[in-house]
Amino acid sequence: MAGHPSYDAVVVGLGSFGSAAARELAGRGVSVLGLESFGPVHDRGSGHGGSRIIRQSYFEGADYVPLLRHAYDGWRRLEQEAGVDLVTLCGGLYIGAAGLPIFTGARAAAERWRLPHEVLDADGIRERFPIFAPAEDALAVWEQNAGYLRPEAAIRANLELAAAHGADLRFEQPVISWRTVAGGVEVTTADRSYGADRLVITAGAWAPVLLDDLGLPLTVQRQVMYWVQPGFTPAAPYQAYVDQHLPVFIEESTQRAGSIYGFGMIDGPDGGMKVGLHHGAIIRETTAEALDRTVSDTEISVVTDRARQLIPAIGSRLVRATVCMYTMAPDEDFVIGVHPEHQQVIIACGFSGHGFKFVPVVGEILADLCQRGATERPIAMFDPCRTPLSSDPGRTDSPLP
Ligand SMILES: Cc1cc2nc3c(=O)[nH]c(=O)nc-3n(C[C@H](O)[C@H](O)[C@H](O)COP(=O)(O)OP(=O)(O)OC[C@H]3O[C@@H](n4cnc5c(N)ncnc54)[C@H](O)[C@@H]3O)c2cc1C
Repeated sequence: MAGHPSYDAVVVGLGSFGSAAARELAGRGVSVLGLESFGPVHDRGSGHGGSRIIRQSYFEGADYVPLLRHAYDGWRRLEQEAGVDLVTLCGGLYIGAAGLPIFTGARAAAERWRLPHEVLDADGIRERFPIFAPAEDALAVWEQNAGYLRPEAAIRANLELAAAHGADLRFEQPVISWRTVAGGVEVTTADRSYGADRLVITAGAWAPVLLDDLGLPLTVQRQVMYWVQPGFTPAAPYQAYVDQHLPVFIEESTQRAGSIYGFGMIDGPDGGMKVGLHHGAIIRETTAEALDRTVSDTEISVVTDRARQLIPAIGSRLVRATVCMYTMAPDEDFVIGVHPEHQQVIIACGFSGHGFKFVPVVGEILADLCQRGATERPIAMFDPCRTPLSSDPGRTDSPLP
């Protein structure tokens, strides 16, 4: 690789996971180059919007719980190292009904790993949290050890610590192409090429472009976050909406279309409650390049109407709305591992709208894979060659399903 500046590792994409990988690698004494299309901590990808839910009774699969435990430890270490508050544990309420995946999955995970939780019926939910109007057949898992994260502050903390440990972080430097060369990789931006022994691709919604050769069946969803101002009443004043009184929540219902999630008023009395649809008819497929960032009046009324079913006091007054992207894998499990055809390339993508809470542990996993090609963390379910991603592991010309 003569002629190119050369590093032990280059991380492409310094968003949620790339910033964590850069920090972890640099902290281990690895010489790291980080390349990012936009500025540090931006709102063009998937890591913005002021808050992310963190929870342990994981309805997506009880197998995630050991990783979540490591993630919680990692968040505490990051907070300490950076000297910032990133996590607020205000509790989590996962409302569903008998037989629906969110309720049954959350309860199964809590029971399997003996996570502290309570099961509440509709009366129990109303009694504990009077602003909620659950459906009559509702059942919920209430978990204390859940809450929210501050994504922009977390990415900033990881970038600052990475730089403090010597990582060379370069912004406004989109990577145009990469290729493997003897013993390493070559990565090219508009104005130059860089050499490294290892390449970590953490490109979020742009992963399908940078990993085009793999033909992973990833799809990108346009996902809008809405901040809606509730009307305060003597029975439900501002205080009813703050951390001590309101958990993060997710509701799926036999009687209400689309599953909704939201947060209390974590940005003060005029900041609104952030809500969004996790699954629902108005969610559209896109690509990162073609993303429509305009939020329509129809979308706003569909979402505020849906939110009002659960929280009747939630008004229609929108404080703001912003667009984000989910990068979906067909089975909604992450894609993390060594590139099936190039052992010097590590990939992490397809976080399917639930990845942020895992940022610290995924940073460690990526550093392990970079340094040793393996990790002690249980990542078999994220294998880039697993069946739902490719029925013929190693095949590169597979059409998208
Ligand atoms: C609306 C919404 C709500 C969510 N809620 C939750 C939640 O409550 N809890 C939870 O755990 N998760 C949640 N998530 C999911 C979580 O935020 C994502 O899984 C996570 O942010 C994905 O991180 P990433 O690093 O893959 O992508 P990003 O953070 O977008 O980082 C990718 C980076 O790569 C850069 N890049 C791309 N291509 C190139 C290139 N060619 N050259 C250089 N740089 C490049 C991009 O600019 C970007 O900075 C939510 C996501 C959204 C959108």
